[in-house]
Amino acid sequence: MKGKKSTYDALIVGSGPNGLAAGIRLTLEGYSVKIFEASNTVGGGMRTKELINPGYLHDICSAIHPMAASAPFLKQLPLEEYGLKWIHPKIPAAHPLDDEPPVALFNDLYKTALHLENDSKLYQKIVEPITQNWDGLSRDFLGPLRFPKNPIQMGLFGLNALQPASLFQKRFQTERAKALFAGMAAHSILPLDAIATTAIALVFFGTAHTGGWPLAEGGSQSIANSMASYFKSLGGEIETGFPVRSLDQLPSSKAILFDLTPSQVSDIAGDRFPPSYKQKLTKFKRGSGVFKVDYILKEPVPWKDEECRKAGTVHLGGTFDEIAASEKEMDEGGHPENPYVLVTQQSLFDKTRTPNEKETLWAYCHVPNGSTVDMTEAIENQIERFAPGFRDVIEEKITMNTQDFQEYNANYIGGDINGGRQDITQLFTRPVNLINPYATPAEGIYICSASTPPGGGVHGMCGYHAANLVLKEEFDRQPSQWKFKI
Ligand SMILES: Cc1cc2nc3c(=O)[nH]c(=O)nc-3n(C[C@H](O)[C@H](O)[C@H](O)COP(=O)(O)OP(=O)(O)OC[C@H]3O[C@@H](n4cnc5c(N)ncnc54)[C@H](O)[C@@H]3O)c2cc1C
Repeated sequence: MKGKKSTYDALIVGSGPNGLAAGIRLTLEGYSVKIFEASNTVGGGMRTKELINPGYLHDICSAIHPMAASAPFLKQLPLEEYGLKWIHPKIPAAHPLDDEPPVALFNDLYKTALHLENDSKLYQKIVEPITQNWDGLSRDFLGPLRFPKNPIQMGLFGLNALQPASLFQKRFQTERAKALFAGMAAHSILPLDAIATTAIALVFFGTAHTGGWPLAEGGSQSIANSMASYFKSLGGEIETGFPVRSLDQLPSSKAILFDLTPSQVSDIAGDRFPPSYKQKLTKFKRGSGVFKVDYILKEPVPWKDEECRKAGTVHLGGTFDEIAASEKEMDEGGHPENPYVLVTQQSLFDKTRTPNEKETLWAYCHVPNGSTVDMTEAIENQIERFAPGFRDVIEEKITMNTQDFQEYNANYIGGDINGGRQDITQLFTRPVNLINPYATPAEGIYICSASTPPGGGVHGMCGYHAANLVLKEEFDRQPSQWKFKI
C-alpha cells in the first residue's frame, strides 16, 4: 500500500459513482477518507476506453446520464469546475415504430405532450406534477424507505408509480404513447407486468424535463474523473490497482464503506457478520444481465426517421406489446428473437469521441443472468428494422457478454448491471430489510453500492445516504450539524 497514513476516518472499497459520492460526502464534512479501487482507473460503471481502435472512445457501461444530471446530490457538486461538460442531444430519446410515425421524448414537457396527440392531456396530467415537484420528490424516492418529506406529492406519485406498466399503459389511447412508455419502463430490466415498473418510466420522463438526458464530453469517464478530482481537492486519497480481498489489507479506520455487491462484502468481511445476516445476504436476488455491442461506423446510422437521427438514445423493440413480450421471455430465461434494444449515439453530439468523420455506436439488450448467448445478430436485426442498410455502415465491432462484464467489474455478477434485481421486494430495502439498509450488523461496516437504495444508475445517491448514516452513527454528527445538505 502506497498510502501516506495508517489511520483514516473512513475507507471506501470501490470507486464507482457511489463510492466516489460517499467519499465526497464525508470529506465535505472534513473527515479523512481513502478509496481503494481494484482497477487501474477510477469510475466503475463510468469508464470510457478505446475498446477497438485508437482514438475511438467507447463508454464501457453507462452512456447517458438522466440520473446524474437530475439527482439531488451530484447536481449540487461543482463538477464542471473539475472538467465535466454535459452535452445535451437535440432529442433525449426516440422510439421508431413500423407502421406509425416515430415517437420521441423531448426536453420540453409540453412539446412531448403535443407530440403524443390524443394522449397529450394524459401525459401532461401525469408528468407535469412530477416535473414541477422534482426537487422534493427526487429526495424522497431516490433513497431508503422512510416517511416522505413531501407526503402528499409522494402519495400521488406512488398511486401511479406502484402500478405494473402493463396495467398503467391501458390509460394511453395511442400505440405511440404506449410504445414510448414501454421503452422507459423496460429500463427496469423487469417484465412489464411487475409491480412498480411504472415508477421507472415516470422517473425517466421526469428527468427529461428537469436535468435532461445528457452525455459527458469525452465519455462517462469524465464524470468519474471530475468526481475523483473534486474528492482529492477536498483532501481525499485514492489508491487504484488495489483489489481488496480481506479487511487485513486495509489501514485502520472508524468506518469502511463497500461500493460492492452483498456477496463480495460477505466474502471480504463475512467473518464479522452473524450467520443470520450472512444467510440473508445469500438470499439477495440477482438481476438479469446484458449483452452489448460497441461499433465503429463509417457514417451515422441510416435511421428511417429524422427523430432517431437527432436523438442521443434510441429505444428499439416496437410496440408496447412487443417489448412486454420480449422482456417477459428474457426474464423467464429466454433469448428473444426481437429483443428490446437500447442504442446510444454519443459521437453524433460529441466530436471528441472519434478521430475523424466516422461514428461510434453503443447498443445492448437484456439477457438472462449468466447468459453466454451471442445476441449480436438479434441486436443488428432490430437496428436494421428501423435503419435499413445499417450493416453496410459497420466498420468494426466488439461484443461483451455477461461473463465479460463480470470480469470487467466484479460487481456485475452474471452481467447484472444494477447490483441486484430491482423488483418491489428489493427496491427500497436492498440488500436486506433493515431500517437502515446501508448498515450491517458489524460495527463500522457499511454498504454504499447500487445494491442499496435507490439501486442502479449513475446518481451517487446510494453513496450519499450511506455516508450520511456513517456521519450519524460513527461520528455522532446529526443533520443539524452538517455543513452540506441537499
Ligand atoms: C452496459 C451498462 C450500461 C449502463 N448504462 C447506464 C446509463 O446509460 N446510465 C446510467 O445512469 N447507468 C447505467 N448503467 C448502470 C451504472 O453504471 C451502475 O448502476 C453504476 O455504475 C453502479 O455504481 P456503483 O458505484 O454502485 O458500482 P460500480 O460502478 O460497479 O463500481 C464499483 C467499483 O468497485 C470496484 N471493485 C469491485 N470489486 C472490488 C474489490 N474487491 N476491491 C476494490 N475495488 C473493487 C470496481 O472495479 C468498480 O470500480 C449501465 C451499466 C452497464 C454495465
